[in-house]
Amino acid sequence: MAKVTIDGIEIEVPDGTSILQAARMIGPTVAPPAMCFYTNLPSSGGYCRTCMVEVTKGSEKDPRPMPKLVASCRTQVMDGMVVGNRTSEKAVDARKGVVEFLLLNHPLDCPICDQAGECHLQDLSYENGSAKTRTDFERRTFDKIDIGDKIQLHMNRCILCYRCVKVADQLTPERVHGVMNRGDHSEISTYITKAVDNEFSGNMIDVCPVGALTDKTFRFKSRVWFTKPVTAHRDCDKCCGKVVLWYKGEDVLRVTGRKDQWGEVEEFICNTCRFDKKRTSDWVVEGPTNLSRHSVISANHYEKLVVPNELTLNDIKPLNP
Ligand code: SF4
Repeated sequence: MAKVTIDGIEIEVPDGTSILQAARMIGPTVAPPAMCFYTNLPSSGGYCRTCMVEVTKGSEKDPRPMPKLVASCRTQVMDGMVVGNRTSEKAVDARKGVVEFLLLNHPLDCPICDQAGECHLQDLSYENGSAKTRTDFERRTFDKIDIGDKIQLHMNRCILCYRCVKVADQLTPERVHGVMNRGDHSEISTYITKAVDNEFSGNMIDVCPVGALTDKTFRFKSRVWFTKPVTAHRDCDKCCGKVVLWYKGEDVLRVTGRKDQWGEVEEFICNTCRFDKKRTSDWVVEGPTNLSRHSVISANHYEKLVVPNELTLNDIKPLNP
């Protein structure tokens, strides 16, 4: 076991735990945001730099600070380590810079984007971004591409987090899409518009943190905050069958995997459950979904996820008192 102090709060975690996961064990108040790391995709993380933190004491054995900010999703805790996230001016400032870079090419089209209300970049920009842009050059633009008959790729919005590539790597027998080219020419592409055609491809929609990969059966049907999420399950021979049904009136507008308090899918679901089971009679309804995120999606919903021992900003201590 290793003792680590994050934003003045000490926690003991198993050896090998990353700083990000240790911070999540403390709670959302001290957990850094993450745009590319995804717990259920073990090789994810290390791309977006959103979760960078300052390590002011490396360990009990070697108390020297780490010379640069580190990606908390890819750095393991050491016994006696001291980390600053919210309390580190350097980390906060760097995150602001990362948001600015992520938005360099990302269109500000939230009013017409299906991801609005559940977009991690929207939340990240709101919490860490600046109200003004310092650039006036044109953003990259691409034509929309159909990836199979149920998924649409809108590359303009992609932040190259690689999550969809990792999903395809881990859940599908053969990956037919990836990041092509490098630098500002990078883009997600199927190898010349080959369809991603397998039973678990729909999970790419759920893991995409922005509106780059969207469900064609749901596009433009409703703003997400006008829908009512309901937890349900069915016996499925391909996946766990545990989902959230998004209702508008009597109609199920879309089906997604269940997400945890970090906005990550708990168990991946198959395309049959996602795209082909849109009648209430297909499901055993368990009840209203507990909403954990603080974005507008929870507006007018009373069911909030109760986080045990949730801390407030008053609980965190300055890094250098
Ligand atoms: S399409 Fe979405 S999930 Fe895939 S790399 Fe781009 S932002 Fe990430």
